[in-house]
Amino acid sequence: MLQCLIMTRTKNGDTGVVLKPGRERSVRNRHPWLFSGAIASQRGAPQDGEQVDIYASDSSWIARGTWSGLSQIRVRLWSWDVEQQIDSELLRSRIRRAIAGRVPFASNPETTAYRLIFSESDGLPGLIVDRYGDYLVMQLLTTGAALRGDEIVAILAEEAHPVGIYERSDADVRTKEGLDRREGLRWGSFPETPIEILENGYRMTIDLEGGQKTGAYLDQRANHARVATYCRDAEMLSCFSYTGGFELHAAGAGARHLVGIDSSPTVLERAADNLRLNGLETPFEPIAGNVFSELRRFRTEGRSFDVIVLDPPKFAANAAQVDKACRGYKDINLLAMQLLRPGGVLATFSCSGLIGANLFQKIVFGASIDARRDVQILERLSQGPDHPVLLTFPESEYLTGLICRVW
Ligand code: SAH
Repeated sequence: MLQCLIMTRTKNGDTGVVLKPGRERSVRNRHPWLFSGAIASQRGAPQDGEQVDIYASDSSWIARGTWSGLSQIRVRLWSWDVEQQIDSELLRSRIRRAIAGRVPFASNPETTAYRLIFSESDGLPGLIVDRYGDYLVMQLLTTGAALRGDEIVAILAEEAHPVGIYERSDADVRTKEGLDRREGLRWGSFPETPIEILENGYRMTIDLEGGQKTGAYLDQRANHARVATYCRDAEMLSCFSYTGGFELHAAGAGARHLVGIDSSPTVLERAADNLRLNGLETPFEPIAGNVFSELRRFRTEGRSFDVIVLDPPKFAANAAQVDKACRGYKDINLLAMQLLRPGGVLATFSCSGLIGANLFQKIVFGASIDARRDVQILERLSQGPDHPVLLTFPESEYLTGLICRVW
Protein backbone atom coordinates (compact mmCIF):
# COMPACT_ATOMS: atom_id res chain seq x y z
CA MET A 1 0.00 0.00 0.00
CA LEU A 2 2.69 2.47 1.04
CA GLN A 3 4.86 1.53 -1.90
CA CYS A 4 1.90 2.02 -4.20
CA LEU A 5 1.29 5.51 -2.84
CA ILE A 6 4.94 6.41 -3.14
CA MET A 7 4.91 5.41 -6.76
CA THR A 8 1.97 7.70 -7.45
CA ARG A 9 3.34 10.64 -9.36
CA THR A 10 2.34 14.06 -8.21
CA LYS A 11 1.95 16.86 -10.65
CA ASN A 12 4.89 18.61 -9.06
CA GLY A 13 7.71 16.28 -9.59
CA ASP A 14 9.19 12.92 -10.29
CA THR A 15 11.54 12.72 -7.41
CA GLY A 16 10.98 12.79 -3.70
CA VAL A 17 11.55 11.29 -0.32
CA VAL A 18 9.26 9.64 2.18
CA LEU A 19 9.92 10.35 5.84
CA LYS A 20 10.24 7.77 8.58
CA PRO A 21 7.16 7.60 10.80
CA GLY A 22 7.33 10.25 13.51
CA ARG A 23 9.89 12.39 11.68
CA GLU A 24 7.40 14.81 10.12
CA ARG A 25 7.25 17.33 12.91
CA SER A 26 10.24 19.46 12.06
CA VAL A 27 9.27 19.54 8.37
CA ARG A 28 5.70 20.52 9.20
CA ASN A 29 7.10 23.18 11.52
CA ARG A 30 8.97 24.55 8.52
CA HIS A 31 12.47 23.85 9.69
CA PRO A 32 14.44 24.20 6.43
CA TRP A 33 16.82 21.26 6.93
CA LEU A 34 15.95 17.62 6.34
CA PHE A 35 18.65 15.26 7.62
CA SER A 36 19.36 11.96 5.88
CA GLY A 37 18.44 10.02 9.03
CA ALA A 38 14.79 11.12 8.77
CA ILE A 39 14.35 9.64 5.30
CA ALA A 40 12.72 6.21 4.97
CA SER A 41 12.89 5.91 1.22
CA GLN A 42 13.70 7.80 -1.91
CA ARG A 43 11.71 8.10 -5.08
CA GLY A 44 13.51 8.50 -8.36
CA ALA A 45 17.16 9.48 -8.61
CA PRO A 46 17.43 13.16 -7.87
CA GLN A 47 20.51 14.99 -9.11
CA ASP A 48 22.31 17.43 -6.86
CA GLY A 49 20.42 20.70 -6.59
CA GLU A 50 17.25 19.35 -8.18
CA GLN A 51 13.78 19.90 -6.80
CA VAL A 52 12.40 17.08 -4.63
CA ASP A 53 9.08 16.58 -2.85
CA ILE A 54 8.84 15.56 0.79
CA TYR A 55 6.11 13.13 1.82
CA ALA A 56 4.98 12.11 5.28
CA SER A 57 5.08 8.41 6.16
CA ASP A 58 1.38 8.23 5.19
CA SER A 59 2.56 9.61 1.82
CA SER A 60 0.79 12.96 2.12
CA TRP A 61 2.74 15.84 0.55
CA ILE A 62 4.39 18.19 3.05
CA ALA A 63 7.07 20.32 1.46
CA ARG A 64 9.46 20.87 -1.43
CA GLY A 65 13.19 21.34 -1.42
CA THR A 66 16.48 20.82 -3.23
CA TRP A 67 18.61 17.69 -3.13
CA SER A 68 22.11 17.60 -1.62
CA GLY A 69 23.20 14.02 -2.20
CA LEU A 70 26.47 14.19 -0.27
CA SER A 71 25.41 16.26 2.69
CA GLN A 72 23.95 15.03 5.97
CA ILE A 73 21.42 17.79 5.34
CA ARG A 74 20.03 15.84 2.41
CA VAL A 75 17.26 18.24 1.44
CA ARG A 76 17.05 22.02 1.90
CA LEU A 77 13.42 23.03 2.14
CA TRP A 78 12.19 25.99 0.15
CA SER A 79 8.39 25.72 0.06
CA TRP A 80 5.40 24.35 1.95
CA ASP A 81 2.92 25.27 -0.79
CA VAL A 82 2.14 22.38 -3.12
CA GLU A 83 1.51 24.79 -6.00
CA GLN A 84 4.88 26.50 -5.63
CA GLN A 85 7.72 25.22 -7.80
CA ILE A 86 11.34 26.09 -7.05
CA ASP A 87 11.67 28.12 -10.20
CA SER A 88 12.77 31.59 -11.23
CA GLU A 89 9.42 33.04 -10.19
CA LEU A 90 10.04 31.83 -6.62
CA LEU A 91 13.64 33.05 -6.71
CA ARG A 92 12.53 36.47 -7.88
CA SER A 93 9.78 36.85 -5.30
CA ARG A 94 12.09 35.79 -2.45
CA ILE A 95 14.86 38.11 -3.66
CA ARG A 96 12.38 40.98 -3.90
CA ARG A 97 11.15 40.22 -0.40
CA ALA A 98 14.71 40.26 0.96
CA ILE A 99 15.43 43.57 -0.73
CA ALA A 100 12.18 45.03 0.64
CA GLY A 101 13.25 43.92 4.13
CA ARG A 102 16.46 45.97 3.81
CA VAL A 103 14.81 49.29 2.93
CA PRO A 104 15.91 50.81 6.27
CA PHE A 105 19.52 50.11 5.22
CA ALA A 106 19.12 51.20 1.63
CA SER A 107 17.75 54.54 2.80
CA ASN A 108 20.44 55.12 5.44
CA PRO A 109 23.24 57.28 3.99
CA GLU A 110 25.50 56.49 6.98
CA THR A 111 25.77 52.78 6.14
CA THR A 112 26.45 51.54 2.62
CA ALA A 113 27.31 47.89 3.34
CA TYR A 114 24.81 45.34 4.62
CA ARG A 115 23.61 41.80 4.12
CA LEU A 116 20.99 41.79 1.41
CA ILE A 117 20.17 38.07 1.47
CA PHE A 118 20.71 35.80 4.47
CA SER A 119 20.16 32.29 3.17
CA GLU A 120 17.41 30.26 4.89
CA SER A 121 16.30 33.31 6.88
CA ASP A 122 15.26 34.91 3.59
CA GLY A 123 13.77 31.70 2.18
CA LEU A 124 16.78 31.18 -0.10
CA PRO A 125 18.77 28.24 1.35
CA GLY A 126 22.47 28.52 0.60
CA LEU A 127 22.39 32.03 -0.88
CA ILE A 128 24.29 34.83 0.83
CA VAL A 129 24.46 38.24 -0.81
CA ASP A 130 26.19 41.23 0.77
CA ARG A 131 25.95 44.71 -0.65
CA TYR A 132 29.03 46.92 -0.55
CA GLY A 133 27.96 50.21 -2.06
CA ASP A 134 27.43 49.61 -5.76
CA TYR A 135 28.72 46.04 -5.64
CA LEU A 136 27.27 42.71 -4.58
CA VAL A 137 29.31 39.82 -3.23
CA MET A 138 27.52 36.51 -3.47
CA GLN A 139 28.08 33.07 -1.96
CA LEU A 140 26.34 29.96 -3.26
CA LEU A 141 26.78 27.45 -0.46
CA THR A 142 24.41 24.59 -1.34
CA THR A 143 23.88 22.56 -4.49
CA GLY A 144 20.35 23.98 -4.75
CA ALA A 145 21.67 27.53 -4.84
CA ALA A 146 24.71 26.67 -6.99
CA LEU A 147 22.56 24.99 -9.67
CA ARG A 148 20.50 28.16 -9.91
CA GLY A 149 23.53 30.49 -9.90
CA ASP A 150 22.96 31.96 -13.38
CA GLU A 151 19.28 32.64 -12.70
CA ILE A 152 20.10 34.20 -9.33
CA VAL A 153 22.72 36.48 -10.87
CA ALA A 154 20.32 37.63 -13.61
CA ILE A 155 17.57 38.37 -11.07
CA LEU A 156 19.96 40.19 -8.71
CA ALA A 157 21.19 42.35 -11.59
CA GLU A 158 17.60 43.36 -12.39
CA GLU A 159 16.25 43.74 -8.89
CA ALA A 160 19.22 45.20 -6.96
CA HIS A 161 20.77 47.34 -9.74
CA PRO A 162 24.43 46.78 -8.83
CA VAL A 163 27.43 47.79 -10.94
CA GLY A 164 28.97 44.36 -10.47
CA ILE A 165 28.29 40.96 -8.89
CA TYR A 166 31.27 38.99 -7.61
CA GLU A 167 31.08 35.38 -6.49
CA ARG A 168 33.05 34.26 -3.45
CA SER A 169 31.87 30.72 -2.91
CA ASP A 170 34.94 29.83 -0.88
CA ALA A 171 33.40 28.84 2.44
CA ASP A 172 34.31 25.42 3.86
CA VAL A 173 30.66 24.39 4.04
CA ARG A 174 30.71 23.94 0.27
CA THR A 175 32.86 20.83 0.59
CA LYS A 176 30.10 19.15 2.61
CA GLU A 177 27.88 19.66 -0.43
CA GLY A 178 30.53 18.30 -2.81
CA LEU A 179 31.02 21.73 -4.37
CA ASP A 180 34.38 23.20 -5.36
CA ARG A 181 35.49 26.72 -4.53
CA ARG A 182 34.31 29.20 -7.07
CA GLU A 183 35.39 32.80 -7.25
CA GLY A 184 35.23 35.53 -9.82
CA LEU A 185 33.21 38.19 -11.50
CA ARG A 186 29.75 36.94 -12.42
CA TRP A 187 28.16 40.09 -13.82
CA GLY A 188 29.01 43.69 -14.67
CA SER A 189 32.35 45.08 -13.62
CA PHE A 190 34.37 45.12 -10.45
CA PRO A 191 37.04 47.52 -9.15
CA GLU A 192 40.68 46.37 -9.06
CA THR A 193 41.41 48.04 -5.74
CA PRO A 194 39.74 47.77 -2.35
CA ILE A 195 36.53 49.75 -2.27
CA GLU A 196 35.38 52.22 0.33
CA ILE A 197 32.15 51.83 2.27
CA LEU A 198 30.50 53.66 5.13
CA GLU A 199 29.61 51.95 8.38
CA ASN A 200 27.67 54.10 10.83
CA GLY A 201 29.24 57.12 9.14
CA TYR A 202 32.82 55.79 9.34
CA ARG A 203 34.79 55.28 6.14
CA MET A 204 36.27 51.79 5.75
CA THR A 205 38.16 50.16 2.90
CA ILE A 206 37.15 46.62 2.11
CA ASP A 207 39.05 43.97 0.20
CA LEU A 208 36.12 42.24 -1.49
CA GLU A 209 38.25 39.62 -3.20
CA GLY A 210 40.84 38.80 -0.53
CA GLY A 211 39.15 39.72 2.76
CA GLN A 212 37.52 37.27 5.16
CA LYS A 213 33.89 36.21 4.65
CA THR A 214 32.62 38.46 1.84
CA GLY A 215 34.97 41.25 2.95
CA ALA A 216 33.62 42.48 6.27
CA TYR A 217 31.91 41.30 9.45
CA LEU A 218 28.69 43.11 8.71
CA ASP A 219 26.93 41.26 11.53
CA GLN A 220 28.88 43.35 14.08
CA ARG A 221 27.91 46.77 12.69
CA ALA A 222 25.45 47.71 15.44
CA ASN A 223 27.73 46.25 18.12
CA HIS A 224 30.70 48.34 16.95
CA ALA A 225 28.56 51.38 17.76
CA ARG A 226 27.18 49.99 21.05
CA VAL A 227 30.61 49.16 22.44
CA ALA A 228 31.93 52.60 21.44
CA THR A 229 29.54 54.23 23.91
CA TYR A 230 31.74 52.85 26.73
CA CYS A 231 35.03 54.01 25.21
CA ARG A 232 35.27 57.72 25.95
CA ASP A 233 38.75 58.39 27.44
CA ALA A 234 39.28 54.65 27.63
CA GLU A 235 42.33 52.55 27.05
CA MET A 236 40.79 49.91 24.86
CA LEU A 237 41.98 46.46 23.86
CA SER A 238 40.34 44.85 20.84
CA CYS A 239 41.06 41.13 20.54
CA PHE A 240 40.54 39.54 17.13
CA SER A 241 40.59 42.96 15.51
CA TYR A 242 40.26 42.10 11.82
CA THR A 243 40.10 45.49 10.05
CA GLY A 244 39.41 47.38 13.25
CA GLY A 245 35.66 48.00 13.30
CA PHE A 246 35.60 48.22 17.11
CA GLU A 247 38.76 50.38 17.23
CA LEU A 248 37.42 52.80 14.64
CA HIS A 249 34.16 53.38 16.48
CA ALA A 250 35.99 53.61 19.84
CA ALA A 251 38.39 56.21 18.43
CA GLY A 252 35.46 58.21 17.07
CA ALA A 253 33.85 58.09 20.51
CA GLY A 254 36.96 59.54 22.17
CA ALA A 255 39.07 56.56 23.26
CA ARG A 256 42.48 57.52 24.64
CA HIS A 257 44.57 54.58 23.44
CA LEU A 258 43.85 51.53 21.27
CA VAL A 259 45.47 48.12 21.19
CA GLY A 260 44.42 45.62 18.51
CA ILE A 261 45.46 41.97 18.41
CA ASP A 262 45.04 39.76 15.37
CA SER A 263 47.01 36.82 14.01
CA SER A 264 47.07 38.51 10.59
CA PRO A 265 49.42 41.51 10.19
CA THR A 266 47.69 42.42 6.91
CA VAL A 267 44.32 43.07 8.52
CA LEU A 268 45.96 45.16 11.25
CA GLU A 269 47.53 47.37 8.58
CA ARG A 270 44.08 47.89 7.16
CA ALA A 271 42.76 48.72 10.63
CA ALA A 272 45.45 51.43 10.92
CA ASP A 273 44.58 52.69 7.41
CA ASN A 274 40.90 52.87 8.37
CA LEU A 275 41.73 55.05 11.40
CA ARG A 276 43.82 57.38 9.21
CA LEU A 277 41.13 57.48 6.53
CA ASN A 278 38.78 58.97 9.12
CA GLY A 279 41.34 61.47 10.39
CA LEU A 280 41.43 59.77 13.79
CA GLU A 281 44.73 60.23 15.54
CA THR A 282 44.14 58.10 18.62
CA PRO A 283 47.36 56.12 19.25
CA PHE A 284 46.93 52.58 17.86
CA GLU A 285 49.15 49.71 18.90
CA PRO A 286 48.69 46.79 16.49
CA ILE A 287 49.92 43.43 17.76
CA ALA A 288 50.21 40.58 15.29
CA GLY A 289 49.95 37.50 17.46
CA ASN A 290 47.82 34.85 19.08
CA VAL A 291 45.23 36.32 21.46
CA PHE A 292 45.57 33.41 23.90
CA SER A 293 49.31 33.98 24.39
CA GLU A 294 49.26 37.78 24.08
CA LEU A 295 46.69 38.08 26.88
CA ARG A 296 48.89 35.88 29.09
CA ARG A 297 51.87 38.08 28.26
CA PHE A 298 49.88 41.19 29.23
CA ARG A 299 48.95 39.52 32.52
CA THR A 300 52.58 38.75 33.27
CA GLU A 301 53.53 42.33 32.39
CA GLY A 302 50.76 43.68 34.63
CA ARG A 303 49.03 45.64 31.86
CA SER A 304 45.44 46.72 32.36
CA PHE A 305 42.63 48.25 30.30
CA ASP A 306 39.33 50.11 30.68
CA VAL A 307 37.53 48.29 27.86
CA ILE A 308 38.28 44.88 26.33
CA VAL A 309 36.53 43.41 23.29
CA LEU A 310 36.66 39.67 22.59
CA ASP A 311 35.34 38.87 19.12
CA PRO A 312 36.87 35.52 18.21
CA PRO A 313 36.19 33.45 15.10
CA LYS A 314 33.78 30.54 15.35
CA PHE A 315 35.38 28.13 17.87
CA ALA A 316 32.73 25.39 17.40
CA ALA A 317 31.89 24.45 13.82
CA ASN A 318 30.26 21.14 14.83
CA ALA A 319 28.91 19.38 17.92
CA ALA A 320 32.18 17.51 18.49
CA GLN A 321 34.01 20.82 18.93
CA VAL A 322 31.65 22.32 21.52
CA ASP A 323 33.53 21.20 24.67
CA LYS A 324 36.86 22.47 23.41
CA ALA A 325 35.23 25.70 22.24
CA CYS A 326 33.72 26.26 25.72
CA ARG A 327 37.19 25.91 27.24
CA GLY A 328 38.57 28.38 24.69
CA TYR A 329 35.86 30.95 25.39
CA LYS A 330 36.31 30.54 29.13
CA ASP A 331 40.07 30.95 28.87
CA ILE A 332 39.99 34.26 26.99
CA ASN A 333 37.12 35.63 29.09
CA LEU A 334 38.98 34.80 32.31
CA LEU A 335 42.15 36.45 30.99
CA ALA A 336 40.23 39.54 29.86
CA MET A 337 38.56 39.92 33.28
CA GLN A 338 41.96 39.71 34.94
CA LEU A 339 43.26 42.51 32.69
CA LEU A 340 40.36 44.89 33.32
CA ARG A 341 40.61 47.72 35.82
CA PRO A 342 37.83 47.73 38.48
CA GLY A 343 34.69 49.05 36.80
CA GLY A 344 36.07 48.23 33.36
CA VAL A 345 33.91 46.98 30.52
CA LEU A 346 34.10 43.60 28.80
CA ALA A 347 32.34 43.20 25.43
CA THR A 348 32.45 39.49 24.72
CA PHE A 349 31.07 37.61 21.72
CA SER A 350 30.57 34.15 20.31
CA CYS A 351 29.59 33.49 16.70
CA SER A 352 29.39 29.72 17.28
CA GLY A 353 25.73 29.03 16.60
CA LEU A 354 26.04 25.75 18.54
CA ILE A 355 26.83 27.72 21.69
CA GLY A 356 23.59 29.52 22.43
CA ALA A 357 23.19 32.66 24.50
CA ASN A 358 22.45 30.64 27.66
CA LEU A 359 25.52 28.46 27.41
CA PHE A 360 27.66 31.47 26.55
CA GLN A 361 26.43 33.29 29.65
CA LYS A 362 27.32 30.22 31.75
CA ILE A 363 30.83 30.25 30.30
CA VAL A 364 31.27 33.93 31.19
CA PHE A 365 29.86 33.17 34.65
CA GLY A 366 32.48 30.40 35.08
CA ALA A 367 35.20 32.82 34.05
CA SER A 368 33.99 35.40 36.61
CA ILE A 369 34.13 32.83 39.42
CA ASP A 370 37.70 31.85 38.55
CA ALA A 371 38.70 35.50 38.13
CA ARG A 372 37.06 36.34 41.49
CA ARG A 373 35.48 39.44 40.00
CA ASP A 374 31.91 40.72 40.32
CA VAL A 375 30.48 40.91 36.81
CA GLN A 376 27.26 42.66 35.81
CA ILE A 377 25.56 42.22 32.45
CA LEU A 378 24.78 45.66 31.04
CA GLU A 379 23.63 44.69 27.56
CA ARG A 380 22.85 41.56 25.55
CA LEU A 381 23.81 41.78 21.92
CA SER A 382 23.06 39.82 18.79
CA GLN A 383 23.59 39.99 15.05
CA GLY A 384 22.29 43.06 13.22
CA PRO A 385 18.82 43.24 11.66
CA ASP A 386 20.21 42.61 8.18
CA HIS A 387 20.89 39.07 9.50
CA PRO A 388 17.31 38.28 10.56
CA VAL A 389 16.58 35.25 12.71
CA LEU A 390 13.88 33.08 11.15
CA LEU A 391 11.57 31.77 13.89
CA THR A 392 11.33 28.34 12.27
CA PHE A 393 15.12 28.16 12.03
CA PRO A 394 16.74 28.83 15.42
CA GLU A 395 20.14 28.02 13.88
CA SER A 396 19.97 31.37 12.10
CA GLU A 397 20.64 33.04 15.46
CA TYR A 398 24.38 32.52 15.74
CA LEU A 399 25.95 35.67 17.14
CA THR A 400 25.60 36.34 20.84
CA GLY A 401 27.33 38.96 22.92
CA LEU A 402 27.39 40.47 26.39
CA ILE A 403 28.57 43.87 27.50
CA CYS A 404 29.59 43.48 31.13
CA ARG A 405 30.92 45.71 33.85
CA VAL A 406 33.71 43.97 35.75
CA TRP A 407 34.40 45.11 39.33
N1 SAH B 1 36.28 42.03 15.38
C1 SAH B 1 36.25 41.97 13.93
C2 SAH B 1 35.96 40.60 13.39
C3 SAH B 1 36.85 39.52 13.93
S1 SAH B 1 36.95 38.12 12.92
C4 SAH B 1 35.20 42.98 13.42
O1 SAH B 1 34.40 43.46 14.21
O2 SAH B 1 35.22 43.27 12.23
C5 SAH B 1 38.11 37.15 13.72
C6 SAH B 1 39.56 37.59 13.55
O3 SAH B 1 40.33 36.80 14.43
C7 SAH B 1 40.16 37.36 12.18
O4 SAH B 1 40.68 38.56 11.68
C8 SAH B 1 41.31 36.35 12.40
O5 SAH B 1 42.46 36.66 11.64
C9 SAH B 1 41.58 36.51 13.86
N2 SAH B 1 42.08 35.34 14.60
C10 SAH B 1 41.65 34.07 14.55
N3 SAH B 1 42.25 33.32 15.49
C11 SAH B 1 43.08 34.15 16.18
C12 SAH B 1 43.97 33.98 17.28
N4 SAH B 1 44.09 32.80 17.92
N5 SAH B 1 44.66 35.04 17.71
C13 SAH B 1 44.53 36.24 17.10
N6 SAH B 1 43.69 36.46 16.05
C14 SAH B 1 42.99 35.43 15.60
